[in-house]
Amino acid sequence: MKKIGVYIHIPFCIHKCSYCDFYSVTELSLTERYFSALKEQILSFKYFLKDCVADSVYIGGGTPSCVDSKYIVDLMNTLKTVIKFVDKPEITIESNPGTLDSTKIKDYLFCGINRISMGLQSADDDELKMISRIHNRSEFESAYLLARILGFKNINVDIMYALPGQKEETLLKTIDYVTALQPEHISFYGLRVEEGTPLSRQYDLLDRIPDEDTQYNMYIHAAKRLENAGYSQYEISNFSKKRMMCRHNCRYWKSGDYIGFGPGAASFIDGELYSYSKDIKSFIQKPTDRLGNVEKSEILTINQQATQYVMLGLRLARGIESKEYKNRFGRDLEIDYGEKMEKYIAMKYAKRTEKGFRLTRAGLLVSNTILSDILDFETK
Ligand code: SF4
Repeated sequence: MKKIGVYIHIPFCIHKCSYCDFYSVTELSLTERYFSALKEQILSFKYFLKDCVADSVYIGGGTPSCVDSKYIVDLMNTLKTVIKFVDKPEITIESNPGTLDSTKIKDYLFCGINRISMGLQSADDDELKMISRIHNRSEFESAYLLARILGFKNINVDIMYALPGQKEETLLKTIDYVTALQPEHISFYGLRVEEGTPLSRQYDLLDRIPDEDTQYNMYIHAAKRLENAGYSQYEISNFSKKRMMCRHNCRYWKSGDYIGFGPGAASFIDGELYSYSKDIKSFIQKPTDRLGNVEKSEILTINQQATQYVMLGLRLARGIESKEYKNRFGRDLEIDYGEKMEKYIAMKYAKRTEKGFRLTRAGLLVSNTILSDILDFETK
């Protein structure tokens, strides 16, 4: 049996946050038709998935918590008919604290969801308004405590830095506030101004985004604060308590197999990488038309898979390992990357480990630059 991760995209949001470029729509009137199409798509994969077993499921979006939880329960029931699960799978749902209530939380637990991710972003109400979030800190706190009381033993909270007008002081207050609540996992992302988002045209706000040096200090100091509070960094943007890393996301970073459902969802299975087009209306019309809905599809050669392993593996605090590289791709990590990494080791952006290479915290922050420099060998 092949172990895989399953990603299911719920492309609805009550309101689009100004900085967000994830695929989602605010036409909640499409909910019924969307879930019926999604069910059809998942059922059509029954034969394909007969030899697979899911060890993680991630219901993401969009905002999965903005739809009636009866759709999520039905979705989980459908999934259970097409794929087997490992003994203790990790099953996550993403949520916006402004859209949670006790019925939804109970339904999630009832259908087997055992991990909930909550987008707080900031504990400062002015900062939340600045990025047009629909909730405030007190609504987040109520939703968080409700999830805890009703039975969630694995909660992630998302925090953002480099927000317009944000000071290191307010960021650290957010970190202290969240760590005092003791979630099992904290994701800590820097704001990115994505082309085409409302934020990219809000010049007054863009002017207030902290400069690069301030962002560097924010990241380094916040990461230290998280560590002092008992959270270990295991990826550029992810911190967790002991043994509470997100299994599903680790699968992506370790180049493991996963299958995605819904518009915009990506899959990587048996070396084939493909993603569905970001178009809910065409998805509703032809959910099982895999070729028609596929936007990009590529069979990765073994060397391209090796490059992907390095690209994703260097995001992880543990880094990349020679033995694994040799076993999976038949290549020598030292020959492919030894010389290139020396430059970054000298700059204190990277380190040799007993098993291979890893980036330092300062290196993780500039990993895009490092990767675009080192990932240039022949990949065909
Ligand atoms: S709620 Fe999440 S997915 Fe929806 S617009 Fe805001 S950030 Fe994007």
